Amino acid sequence: MDYHTKGRRITISTNPWYDPNMPKEFITHESGNEEAWICICGNQPPGDGFFPCDETGNEVEPIVGSDWENLYVCARCGRIIDMNTLEVVGRNPHPKLLV
Ligand SMILES: [Zn+2]
Repeated sequence: MDYHTKGRRITISTNPWYDPNMPKEFITHESGNEEAWICICGNQPPGDGFFPCDETGNEVEPIVGSDWENLYVCARCGRIIDMNTLEVVGRNPHPKLLV
């Protein structure tokens, strides 16, 4: 199943962690600092951090021209976050990180 959101294509069927019944969650950031993310689990960049990832939560190199979708994974809880909206779009409890 493919569908379009805000002009970008998301292939849900390839994400084993996607649950369409999951209530929408959003992470927050420190007031005045949009880069100082605070995950729902309490993780922040100086803690376990966040890594660019694909839609299944595995870390990717965010290279221009690659198919990176502006997603980040929380290294503590595995929530997959859309960096533009801070919406949690999925979860991978065991993201594969690049070494
Ligand atoms: Zn988290």
